[in-house]
Amino acid sequence: MGGLWLWWIGEGQIEREAMEHVRLHVERAFRVPAAVWAGQARPQGTLDVRRKQHASGRMLEWLLREGPGEGRVLGMTDVDLFIPILTFVFGEAQLNGRAAVVSTARLSEPVLVDRRVLWERLAKEAVHELGHALGLTHCSRPECAMSRSAGLRDVDRKGGQLCADCRTLLDQAQDREPRT
Ligand SMILES: [Zn+2]
Ligand SMILES: [Zn+2]
Repeated sequence: MGGLWLWWIGEGQIEREAMEHVRLHVERAFRVPAAVWAGQARPQGTLDVRRKQHASGRMLEWLLREGPGEGRVLGMTDVDLFIPILTFVFGEAQLNGRAAVVSTARLSEPVLVDRRVLWERLAKEAVHELGHALGLTHCSRPECAMSRSAGLRDVDRKGGQLCADCRTLLDQAQDREPRT
């Protein structure tokens, strides 16, 4: 399926351990190598001045333009993301595409007692959005990383890995991908 890239594109910093936590988690979920992309560029033109939030769709377009030219890229940010019909999103991905994005902004609400809780949530949402980029849609099993999360309670309740059904779908999708 090509490599997976994780790229921190936030305004602030993220701990190296957090990136490593997410990276290992993603590798385990998809059974392919994941690496950190250390590009210094940061998204331009994604802020909606009126909403004071960033348009996740524009973020995806930016990632495709500026990110690694091969494989799939997950942008990880600390700015608040939205799509027009929702007040916020934890992340977004191009279904069966090359780019995905997740944000820590809503994963640390209302008060975060332990950074590790944030890392765990971030890892789950990273798997979820990359799963979409790899062609998976939402899963009805509440424990699966591909189940839909409307709020933090859903994120905390679900697991960070794919259920057996999603695993099978993913394997089938990979069999259809041209091997290069
Ligand atoms: Zn989803
Ligand atoms: Zn599933």
